[in-house]
Amino acid sequence: MSNSAPKRLAILGATGSIGTQTLDIVRRHPELFSVAVLSAGSRVEDLIKYAEMFRPRLAVIARPELEGRLREALAPLGIATASGPQALCEAASADDVDMVVTATVGYSGLEPTVCAIKAGKEIALANKETLVVAGEYIRSLLDSCPQAKIYPVDSEHSAVAQCLVGENPDNVRRLIITASGGPFRTWPVEKIATATAADALLHPNWNMGAKITVDSATMLNKAFELIEAHYLFDIPADRITAVVHPQSIVHSMVEFNDGAIKAQLGVPDMRLPIAYALGRCSRLQGCSEPLTLERLSELTFEKPDELKFPCLGFARLSLERRGTTACTVNGANEVAVAAFLKGRIPFGKIYPAIAHAVEHATFVGRPGFDDYVASNAESRRLAEEFISKA
Ligand code: NAD
Ligand code: MG
Repeated sequence: MSNSAPKRLAILGATGSIGTQTLDIVRRHPELFSVAVLSAGSRVEDLIKYAEMFRPRLAVIARPELEGRLREALAPLGIATASGPQALCEAASADDVDMVVTATVGYSGLEPTVCAIKAGKEIALANKETLVVAGEYIRSLLDSCPQAKIYPVDSEHSAVAQCLVGENPDNVRRLIITASGGPFRTWPVEKIATATAADALLHPNWNMGAKITVDSATMLNKAFELIEAHYLFDIPADRITAVVHPQSIVHSMVEFNDGAIKAQLGVPDMRLPIAYALGRCSRLQGCSEPLTLERLSELTFEKPDELKFPCLGFARLSLERRGTTACTVNGANEVAVAAFLKGRIPFGKIYPAIAHAVEHATFVGRPGFDDYVASNAESRRLAEEFISKA
């Protein structure tokens, strides 16, 4: 990167798994990055701790009732505070922000990302739900705001972006998105149905937030990533496939028309794709451990089992029907995962809760922003209705 002034970041979801790993990269590269805004959902004490360390101009907490505590701790340091979704949008479009890191979880990422695009910001997008919920809308918004640009943080999409460097897009035959298969890959289907939150939270390779870890266990995360890849790289859905690779060393691949396949390999460490996005697809030093090839005993690949993991089918359904379908899937999943984590439903009820919402939801074929808001609310209500009867 150049010798210019450090890039000023707004990190939304700074206290989470991606947020704290982003802060780790900022700490290693103060010559490249500074922090203008930090935000969190409800972990106010963690937000205070990071604000004391990184001294942003502004700290935002999603829950308004926690702003008093935030102000009490940060006002003496001259750090401004704010709360609520509108504050998050203002933070994402503020003049002193060069790049927005969207590391909040779920639907909450959509609105600030929309604000960041409208303000022409660079975006390091971890919040895949933004593209799942409103992929078509986000694409057309990006077309009308050419200054804005999205750099993927998701490891698979970062790998694809790295494989595409120097290639003519016309030569791409297929994107191959790898999946670890999650903790239940080898479990019999009847046992999976009764799995508990403790079982689902034991991901074999990655240490992530609770919601995405459960999404990895249902493999809905992979369905979401197929949708995300479609909107990020503008490749038709039938040319994007998922392959199970339990070692999580090959982070994804691109197959070309001449039969060549390019892959990106690395240890499972999100700091590499985060740093690649922060550096606008350039390579920063010392962000993750190098991969020692000699220590790898095997790299295996297998077809995903859609009978065991029916949530995978929501990718095809969403990309065929389009409109608000994936928004419905996402909203219902958020409610179902929260219910599962609280022990209200067993693992086996997550898929039926989503399927119930998809079956009964109002479908809007060409949604505008307000249609996504309505679809998300309806889908949550439908999933809750199913769960309370389950
Ligand atoms: P996490 O649960 O660890 O952290 C989420 C962050 O968002 C926290 O800072 C939380 O305070 C904040 N937050 C929660 N609800 C909010 C709300 N309503 N408004 C504002 N902020 C809110 O989650 P994570 O694992 O870091 O994942 C973040 C995003 O990155 C997700 O979309 C996930 O799919 C994606 N992602 C994560 C990983 C990973 O390794 N963790 C990998 C790829 C993609
Ligand atoms: Mg991923």
